[in-house]
Amino acid sequence: MNPRWRALGDALLGSEARQRVRAARCLLACALMVYSTAGMGYMAWAGLARPGPVAALAAAGLGGMTLFYAAIRSGANLRLADPSLTLPQMSFALAVGAVAYALAGLGRGAVFPIMMVILMFGLYSLTPQQMRAIGRLALVLFGAAMVLMAMVAPEVYRPEVEFAHFLVIAIMLPAMSMLAGQLSRLRDRLRAQRSELMEALARIQELAHRDELTGLANRRHMQALIDQEQARCARSGGSFCLAVLDIDRFKRINDSHGHPAGDEVLRAFAREALAGIRGNDVLARWGGEEFMLMLPDTRLTAARLGLERLRGRVEALRVDHAGTALAITMSAGLVEHRAGDSVVESIARADRALYQAKQQGRNRVATG
Ligand code: GH3
Ligand code: MG
Ligand code: MG
Repeated sequence: MNPRWRALGDALLGSEARQRVRAARCLLACALMVYSTAGMGYMAWAGLARPGPVAALAAAGLGGMTLFYAAIRSGANLRLADPSLTLPQMSFALAVGAVAYALAGLGRGAVFPIMMVILMFGLYSLTPQQMRAIGRLALVLFGAAMVLMAMVAPEVYRPEVEFAHFLVIAIMLPAMSMLAGQLSRLRDRLRAQRSELMEALARIQELAHRDELTGLANRRHMQALIDQEQARCARSGGSFCLAVLDIDRFKRINDSHGHPAGDEVLRAFAREALAGIRGNDVLARWGGEEFMLMLPDTRLTAARLGLERLRGRVEALRVDHAGTALAITMSAGLVEHRAGDSVVESIARADRALYQAKQQGRNRVATG
């Protein structure tokens, strides 16, 4: 958008999204008031209405709407239960409309469409009950104007004509309430669908990030986390450590105790390892019985100590499966990733270190 238009929009409506909507609607109502006032001015000019009362009504109408706009722009509306001020604005406009009806004489027919437009403002946000209440208010205000004028000036406001007018608005208002009800249900449905979609999205994101068996981060998510960490280190010049962990002779567990036992061991390993790492370390299932551990803000010496401790925990772990206590060990390939290194190369180094740990007899941590 043109920056000058944007600046004008900000000046008129403010910057907070919901307040902008309220201010924009209020300005629209102000424009309608200006337009109606001009219409009344025309009627005074054409001799249909008396200029004095018309001028007073114009001042009241425009002044009132200005106050509503000021209340919204100053944020005073936020202290109220309904900060949109829809009901007060509509009530005020309807009262002005009813007085205009009483003043407009033979031109009063022109007030009905304006009344309709005022009621349409309620379609945006009012509940069906509120819409019915505002409909009743319109009926009372206009009914009072009709009765009063039929008594005061029966030659212009002929009672039988006023009665017909009253019938017309009495039929129109329930129709309006029905429309408002439908729109309000539509809004509710949209809101419900939106929140269902958000929930589904959160579930899908969770599924896309997690490994189902162990509940750990999956490889794709871990890759993204490592990339993030590497970007952070490239900026700050810091370093972090990566370790590939692999359960030793895991195939034997599957072969001698069955695949479900292997699954149980993987879950137990994940739980144990999670309990043994620091809060901001991230553990992921990298594939099969291989895991990736990222230790942010950590130098090699400290990471090595941490991994030794973890290796000890895993060695001491006993996994209960059908009454048998299964024991496992793990090997790890550990590297430090320094600012400027490539992640692919660091992971390859960790893999090579793991291979060495296996070569040297397993149940150990090798650095690369
Ligand atoms: P090494 O000490 O050299 O790592 O020996 P290993 O037996 O652990 O290594 P290998 O990579 O040959 O075997 C890994 C086995 O892990 C093979 C595969 O059947 C098993 N495996 C991979 N994913 C799963 C899984 O989700 N559940 C179970 N139960 N087994 C799995
Ligand atoms: Mg293995
Ligand atoms: Mg393996």
